[in-house]
Formats: sequence, C-alpha cells, structure tokens
Amino acid sequence: MRAQSSFIFDLDGTLVDSVYQHVLSWKEALDEENIDLAVWRIHRKIGMSGGLFTNQLLRETGYELDPEKIDRLRILHARAYTRYGQSVRPLPGAKALLAALTDNGIPWAIATSGRMETAAINLASLGIDPDKVTVITRDLVKYAKPEPDLFLAAADRLGIPIESSVVVGDSIWDMLAAARCRALGIGLLCGGYGAAELQAAHAYRVFDDPQDLLDHLDEVGGRR
Ligand SMILES: [Mg+2]
Repeated sequence: MRAQSSFIFDLDGTLVDSVYQHVLSWKEALDEENIDLAVWRIHRKIGMSGGLFTNQLLRETGYELDPEKIDRLRILHARAYTRYGQSVRPLPGAKALLAALTDNGIPWAIATSGRMETAAINLASLGIDPDKVTVITRDLVKYAKPEPDLFLAAADRLGIPIESSVVVGDSIWDMLAAARCRALGIGLLCGGYGAAELQAAHAYRVFDDPQDLLDHLDEVGGRR
C-alpha cells in the first residue's frame, strides 16, 4: 500500500494573482502612517507573517512601531485591500489544478499567512467556499510563515503526515516553512521570486505557475 500524499497551497502569488495588490495596500497603509518605504522592500516581505513584517520594517526604517501603530497598519492594509483586491484573479491553471487533485482523490488544503478578512476576497475569486475546503489562515495559528505552524495545521486537518505532503508556494517564506516541517517544497515563479532564490530556500522543484505544475503533476507525486 502506498502512502497517501497531500498538497498544501499558499494563496497569494501561488493560486491568485494578488501580490502587487497586497504591496500597494501596504504602501498605502504605510504612507497614511507617514512611514516612507520603497515599494520593492515591501514586495520582498509579502507572504511572511504580518508581525514579522512589521518587525522587519522597524529594523530597516528605524521607525518606532508601537502595538497601536502596528494594529492601525494592519487595519489600513485590510481596508486598502478591499479595494485593490477587486482586481484579483486566479493565476493560470489554478482552478484546473485544484479540480485535477480533487478528481484524482488527492487531498489538498490552502494555508495562508493572511487573515480571513483579506483571504476571503482571494478565495471568492477562486470560487472556493472556506466552509467546504480546508483553509488555514493566520487567525487559526500562533505563528505564521516562516514558522511551519500553518502547514502543520493544514496537514493535521487533512489527516495526512506533513512528511508525505507537498507544499506549493511562491515565496522563500513558504519554502523555509516547508523545510522546517520536512514537507517537500515546490516553488512557483508567478509571485515574483526567482528560481535561484526559491531553490536556495530548499524548493525541490520550481514551475512557472499552477498550469505548469498541473502539466507536470505526475512528476511530483500527484498520482493517486
Ligand atoms: Mg504567497
């Protein structure tokens, strides 16, 4: 008998084309709090936990960020994302990839560093009902990526050992979190990170986007 495997997906930049909308939402939030930060520096941090994100901002900018300010930034970002998020669409092949896994009887889940307040917009664009699919958001775990908690919670909910699971993500934070819980990390280029960066963060394979992964699914354990 073969060990059952599962696929655990990041959401932003992996299944939906939302990285730049998040970057602009953070830019708007930071501007409103008079924190001056170049857009590319924000981009590099998308996908990590919001708490870690603000810690890094503190280090890089030298601004004082008290807990109230951090809370305001989160709310301002979520508010901006309700506008920018309206332009979010599924990445090529995302819906077909999830449908293929379902058709093949392979369990899958979504695990995102975002909170449900922003993730709900992305899930709606994918046509996913979070009451019917396993979705682990930042609200459900103590620490987000690059800690492995989100992926561990997803595997636990699916009832599949994390060591038999494949983690699919677009950022180095996904790959580092996958390596830390001994899941197999697969990187996608559609969130803006380069192949070399993802491989240095322990990506086992790198594909362009969900369609490219779907075309090679049998090479990465996507067989019942
Ligand atoms: Mg991502």
